[in-house]
Amino acid sequence: MLSDIVVVGGGQCAAVAARTLRRRGFDGHIEIIGAEADPPYQRPPLSKEYLETGDAGGLSLLSEQWCADKNVRLRLGERVLGLDPAAGRVRLADGSVRADAVLIATGGRPRMLPGVTGERVHTLRTRRDADRLRAVLAPGATIVVVGAGFIGSEVAATARARGAEVVVLEALDTPLRTVLGADLGAVCAALHRAHGVDLRLRETVSSVAEGSQGITVVTSRGRRIDADAVVVGIGMEPATEVAEGAGIAVADGIVVDECGRTSVPAVFAAGDVARHYHPLLGEHVRTEHFDSANRLAAAAANTMLGRATAFAEPPWFWSDQYDVNLQYAGHAATWDEIVVRGSVADFDFCAFYLSGGVVRAAFAADRGGDIAGARELIARAVPVDADVLRDDDADLLELVPEGVA
Ligand SMILES: Cc1cc2nc3c(=O)[nH]c(=O)nc-3n(C[C@H](O)[C@H](O)[C@H](O)COP(=O)(O)OP(=O)(O)OC[C@H]3O[C@@H](n4cnc5c(N)ncnc54)[C@H](O)[C@@H]3O)c2cc1C
Repeated sequence: MLSDIVVVGGGQCAAVAARTLRRRGFDGHIEIIGAEADPPYQRPPLSKEYLETGDAGGLSLLSEQWCADKNVRLRLGERVLGLDPAAGRVRLADGSVRADAVLIATGGRPRMLPGVTGERVHTLRTRRDADRLRAVLAPGATIVVVGAGFIGSEVAATARARGAEVVVLEALDTPLRTVLGADLGAVCAALHRAHGVDLRLRETVSSVAEGSQGITVVTSRGRRIDADAVVVGIGMEPATEVAEGAGIAVADGIVVDECGRTSVPAVFAAGDVARHYHPLLGEHVRTEHFDSANRLAAAAANTMLGRATAFAEPPWFWSDQYDVNLQYAGHAATWDEIVVRGSVADFDFCAFYLSGGVVRAAFAADRGGDIAGARELIARAVPVDADVLRDDDADLLELVPEGVA
């Protein structure tokens, strides 16, 4: 009989798991232990609206009042040091807590560049990081963003919105090449340049030197950039140490099944820290997306309560850059063909990534409706007619044969 559930990490998955457990009628003890001082909040605005305006209105995911009302113990500013699953204990600096089941949702930390450190070097993961960065994003300031991935690109867009000059250094020949391919990566490059960003491709940081007035970046091409701040946006590393210490299987993330179960009974993991088996993709993936975190955390909470639930929907995420809403659904490491509907030049399109005539992924600019249709096609994994995909007047859902679940 389950009476004590502990969530390690007080972020997005913690909020979803606590809500799911109470919604499903679990009336035992729930304890969320989070290293940050803030109650669970959402991170997507940290590189977008919140970074631009500082308006924290929409950030909260779980208030202290909700926790008090629902009898959820929220321990903030405390770090879990280890787990002893056999004894059912979660270890903190000042003792241990009993747990019949544990959800590890420790997210990750920004990846750093060796030698690129200092007061003027920023990363972006927490609300405090966003506050510190906002303070330097001002008209007349020059910001060097290292990495044109999604977070680096959003920071560049927000910095431009706040009037800063922006140089982006990207090691590859287009932004997001590994996710989107060269042609659509080039579209993202055009988007940056259309907004006045000095995007430098195949160029990265060789060294930084910080002085009282600023920071000087020397690039791999030997160019020197005098700036006010450097933002390193080269991805994150999953915070797996609690799982590793407990002997739980880890391989670039905590390895879990489609329900969030780790290799150790009664220990689950979800969110950015988890590498979960995805039944549709037929492989383990670690997706670092808001939607995946929600779905796997909910699946894990349900599974804990004996209602085994899989996260099997196609992965999906969005990114807001400048005035364009980008969305990506599915997962395609390789593809045979990319079919586009709409106008790439106008940043108003949906691109479908096909393998064997089946849509495996889609990337869209300002086309939420097409992405919704693409998600259905990806989930069904049925062959589709490329001409219909291309036809802007065709309803994507008509491509889904009746009776195919
Ligand atoms: C700047 C930014 C912008 C983003 N934008 C988008 C977007 O536009 N679209 C999208 O789909 N996704 C976006 N994401 C990704 C999304 O926010 C994450 O996928 C989501 O936050 C993952 O939730 P989580 O619960 O796994 O981790 P988190 O929300 O990171 O929570 C983990 C928490 O665990 C704590 N912790 C770590 N170790 C311990 C320990 N030992 N003891 C106690 N606590 C611990 C951490 O301090 C942290 O508070 C963005 C992420 C960032 C950082």
